[in-house]
Amino acid sequence: MPSEDRELLVPFIPGDGIGPDITIAAQTVIEAALNKTTDNRVRIKWEHLMAGQESFDITGEWLPRATIDRIEAVGIAIKGPLTTPVGGGIRSLNVALRQVLDLYSSVRPVRHFRGVPSPVKNPEKMNIVIFRENTEDVYKGLEWKRGSEEIGRLRQFLRSDLGVDISEDSGLGLKPISEFASKRLIRAAMVYGIRHHRKSVTLVHKGNIMKYTEGAFRDWGYELARDEFSDVTIFEGKDEGATDIDGKILLNDRIADNMFQQILTRPDEYSVLAAPNLNGDYLADACAAQVGGLGFAPGANIGDGVAVFEPVHGTAPKYAGKDIANPSALILSGAMMLDHIGFAEAARSIEKALEMTISDGFVTWDVARQIGSSSYVGTRKYAAEIVARI
Ligand code: NAP
Repeated sequence: MPSEDRELLVPFIPGDGIGPDITIAAQTVIEAALNKTTDNRVRIKWEHLMAGQESFDITGEWLPRATIDRIEAVGIAIKGPLTTPVGGGIRSLNVALRQVLDLYSSVRPVRHFRGVPSPVKNPEKMNIVIFRENTEDVYKGLEWKRGSEEIGRLRQFLRSDLGVDISEDSGLGLKPISEFASKRLIRAAMVYGIRHHRKSVTLVHKGNIMKYTEGAFRDWGYELARDEFSDVTIFEGKDEGATDIDGKILLNDRIADNMFQQILTRPDEYSVLAAPNLNGDYLADACAAQVGGLGFAPGANIGDGVAVFEPVHGTAPKYAGKDIANPSALILSGAMMLDHIGFAEAARSIEKALEMTISDGFVTWDVARQIGSSSYVGTRKYAAEIVARI
């Protein structure tokens, strides 16, 4: 913990829809946790950045350059959900932000909070952090429409140069997976696993079918661990019976379909997952569904020296301004942010207080609805109850 008094600058984007409601709630909780765990020595200075509808209404731009520059300069930001402009020039503001800042790891910690309704018998067995590659694979967006001129040229090239026939009524997509992007994502997962004393990192892939993309992702992962982490890595199948395992992390891999079974049947055997984009996308939501869904799913998009923390859910516009939305996912994203910048104790205090709040029966409407209870509190009151337990 830092010893002298100081100010911590945190840029934030309130976001659209329920964004402003949950942002105020999250800010009060984050401030309380930091104050409490640093004896009021570190105070947050919030810096409001523009993006989304608010920005468009004021500046005419959905994602101003000044916002990107500030996030890059400060190195962190926390944001609420942003509307995807319909019919605008930008496909998704979130994707644009990730691309411009090269936030190549999507990080999604998934654990259960006692009292949150779940569709599985033992949701407490889930405590997994998913690292998903954010820039390649299907996120590269390389695809061509059936019947287009490009498809005609590609089909011709595939037939004449590679001897591959693609039927005329096909759309066509490309799935690039590179050594550089795979290794930097897996490196981030390994560093996180080691720093957080996690027991394993599992590479999730479909390498049995796609050897040179998905299979290569796995091979590059093992190569990276041998080159950069050999002194702290135990390799499954090779180091069985090793005795000096203290402080080391197990590296293994699983084929994606098997992994999907195992997150349901044996989630407690897994700790950190590293996956290419599409596998990671499905896995993160499948894991979140087991512990109460998107209302409790925090996330971060992290690059080298810059990280943006945000809830997984969207703007839920029908609840905007009604003091009814569940702010848990943004609050937990705030805890991730504090952990990321070295305030682990503050982060843990938020998680504990949030769990106690729910256990004590203070839940927002979405949760009350699921457990068949008529008793619920609004967004602000829920945050106040968490603050009271920090
Ligand atoms: P959504 O906003 O996540 O909402 C779907 C439904 O889930 C909502 O109608 C809502 O109620 C429930 N919900 C989500 N978050 C909630 C919360 N915190 N508290 C209570 N209930 C919550 O998904 P969407 O309708 O597909 O997307 C709406 C907009 O958000 C779109 O413009 C989309 O592009 C954008 N979006 C942004 C992000 C982001 O900024 N990262 C992510 C996803 C979507 P019910 O269950 O009662 O229906």
